[in-house]
Amino acid sequence: MSRTYGNFIDGEWTDSQSGETFEVTNPAAAGEVVSVHPASTEADVEAALDAAVAAQDEWASTPGPSRGAILREAGNNLEARKEEATEVLVREEGKTRSEAGGEVQRAIDIFHYYGAKARDFGGTVKSASAPGKDLYTKHEPLGTVALITPWNYPIAIPVWKLAPALAAGNTAVLKPASEAPGVVAIVLECLDDAGLPAGVANTITGSGSEVGGPLIESERIDGVSFTGSTAVGTMVAETAAVDLKRVQCEMGGKNPTVVMPSADIEDAAETVGVGAFGTTGQSCTATSRAIVHEDVYDEFVAAVSDYADSLVVGDGLDDPDMGPHVSEDELSSTLEYVDIGSSEGATLEAGGSRLSGDDYDDGYFVEPTVFSGVENDARIAQEEIFGPVLAVVKADSFEDALALANDVDYGLSASIVTQDLSEGKRFVNEVEAGVAKINEKTTGLELHVPFGGYKDSSTNTYREQGDAGLDFFSSVKTIYENY
Ligand code: NAD
Repeated sequence: MSRTYGNFIDGEWTDSQSGETFEVTNPAAAGEVVSVHPASTEADVEAALDAAVAAQDEWASTPGPSRGAILREAGNNLEARKEEATEVLVREEGKTRSEAGGEVQRAIDIFHYYGAKARDFGGTVKSASAPGKDLYTKHEPLGTVALITPWNYPIAIPVWKLAPALAAGNTAVLKPASEAPGVVAIVLECLDDAGLPAGVANTITGSGSEVGGPLIESERIDGVSFTGSTAVGTMVAETAAVDLKRVQCEMGGKNPTVVMPSADIEDAAETVGVGAFGTTGQSCTATSRAIVHEDVYDEFVAAVSDYADSLVVGDGLDDPDMGPHVSEDELSSTLEYVDIGSSEGATLEAGGSRLSGDDYDDGYFVEPTVFSGVENDARIAQEEIFGPVLAVVKADSFEDALALANDVDYGLSASIVTQDLSEGKRFVNEVEAGVAKINEKTTGLELHVPFGGYKDSSTNTYREQGDAGLDFFSSVKTIYENY
């Protein structure tokens, strides 16, 4: 059963002006069309911008508590539709029911969080250097912002951009990824039902170049918040910089977990395995390198390979341990990296193949895969695979492990498993990553603290989430008042 969605522009659901559409199919059953969406073009972008710009002044002058009340209500509406949103997410993107339910819950929590934060949106008062003078700052919305999002967290990421943008008084045009746009439509329905004025939030579906391109190039856009690949994000940042738009790009990762001899190796294998194979390895923060001390290397490789072999892979609706890849392209890319790993001389310890037979033939299923004997300069240790493939690299000391962890272009998330506090402290202080963890997987983020990367993982201009989420979407005016 498939559903047909529209663009949400100026408070109305509309078709693309060309009338063209595209289909989203179920990655667990590729013959099944899940949904149909408008294939929009620049004309639709202009219509959405007309609406967003027209709605901006009134929304900016709406009191923060009133803006917040709408966001909270949107969160309540989404909570009431949690099961439906979870199912749409699983059928479009492929993750497991548990993973999808957790992601929808995160979106609900983010609405509630920024619903409350909208009350605090204001500024700070400082002591002036003369009597009869007030000195303070005032936070103002940027104006109209473009939000461009990837398919791998198709509800959490749009909401972690949209909620702070609206809380801060901006209007927005959101372009979700074409692989899984259905849950964004549900989010917009929840905002509409909560009483969001027409034009404040708009969403348009379509290709990156035909919708995203005109959006980031438009002179009517005051800020661009992008999450996706480093290749596209670099281009987005360059384009936005031409007319000095505020821009934030959060991009790829090649995240390591270091395992030291003091760790419980079974626990460490599970920590790494959950980080590597959860969401089918399709998280920007997925653990793709385990950097393991030589004293426990063989024991770790055996334990993490057993863990990989134990995982049940299947249709996300049945809530197995791991769902399919989102698309045939992503599956092919992962299988290509398996070939690259083998040709580079690494040892395939677990997985490595497309799953076949019975229901597997209908979808993009691959085995959780572990390579040992990986050199850190190998392509499978340097390039983002975005699939359930773990490269295990050997280190001969803590210093060596730290150097290997830092020896990549990316710097998103990193963790260490150790019972030695000084190793843990040194690691979080010296690792080049925007998120650093002790005794935890590289995936998993709390919503009220900043998130973003170092190096090629981010433009490193602003962080997302928490207070930092509001910072990106606001300008600070400093006011000197003499009386
Ligand atoms: P992608 O870069 O292919 O696409 C991201 C978005 O950009 C999509 O909406 C796409 O349609 C749009 N786009 C594509 N070409 C465009 C163009 N020319 N102009 C404007 N927009 C364009 O990424 P993806 O495949 O959807 O997502 C996977 C990537 O996202 C991975 O690299 C992953 O690491 C990264 N990611 C990063 C984070 C983070 O917070 N750092 C979070 C999730 C995913």
